[in-house]
Amino acid sequence: MEIFYEITPLKKKLAALKSQSKKIGFVATMGALHAGHISLVETSNRENDITVVSIFVNPTQFNNKEDLEKYPRNTEADIRLLEDNECDIVFIPSVEEMYPEEDTRVFELGSVAEVMEGKFRPGHFNGVCQIVSKLLDIISPDNAYFGQKDYQQIAVVKAMVKKYMPKFKGNIVPCPIKREADGLALSSRNSHLNPEQRKSAVLISKTLFKVKEMSDNGATQKEITDFVKKNIATDANLCLEYVEIADKDTLLPVEGNLPVNAVVCVTVFDGSTRLIDNILL
Ligand code: AMP
Repeated sequence: MEIFYEITPLKKKLAALKSQSKKIGFVATMGALHAGHISLVETSNRENDITVVSIFVNPTQFNNKEDLEKYPRNTEADIRLLEDNECDIVFIPSVEEMYPEEDTRVFELGSVAEVMEGKFRPGHFNGVCQIVSKLLDIISPDNAYFGQKDYQQIAVVKAMVKKYMPKFKGNIVPCPIKREADGLALSSRNSHLNPEQRKSAVLISKTLFKVKEMSDNGATQKEITDFVKKNIATDANLCLEYVEIADKDTLLPVEGNLPVNAVVCVTVFDGSTRLIDNILL
């Protein structure tokens, strides 16, 4: 496994690989890697000749300075984990390398970036688009893998690529959510949970699994959102920020009887840790 800290040598390496017709898969991460990230690496390994993983805690996507400061960082362990999982190239740039000057680009993507996380984390998706566009531009992968854990992020990245990167010919590939044995969606932020909060967190996925069952049995949007609110409120550690049932492509809210192609997205504070999860109906 080769590690690059700078753009120019990485591009040179990738150009050499591409000249040998090697297929490149790419996984963008913010580090503190876990089995969810590794599932993306494994998919990339299966579908490409070379897997590139980036580790970069992107400051422009944090709308909360404290959240950025306390975001878990563990580069040495990340490198070991990637080595053990047959990653070929790791890119670990500094903030100065990625943003030699302030990125003032504003991505206008309409409702897909304005609902849910767009509403509750103003500026978040603009920062995501800034970094993802830079990384896709540098690496120019054949396939870029994103987890459905961040369901809306995939829709935003697809819309960004379509509108702002017409020359990008790679695929944006969604990958399923990897969960703990008890159902909790893996997340770097889970490391912030104390044992009691960790126990409480299980109720989030449990609630979503129940929602799927309710939807299969014909429940309406209102019945489901009422259930989620009530169920999450039963645990004193949890505080629901939002529950939204959205069209799986447009992410616009759906009401009344549910279509099959909807996604239920929730954001829950467990203590001061903000956790997101979702389930496709
Ligand atoms: P992050 O490091 O949180 O920015 O995540 C990097 C990539 O890993 C994103 O595409 C995430 O959606 C994906 N990811 C994070 N957690 C999971 C998970 N539990 N299952 C699948 N993919 C995940």
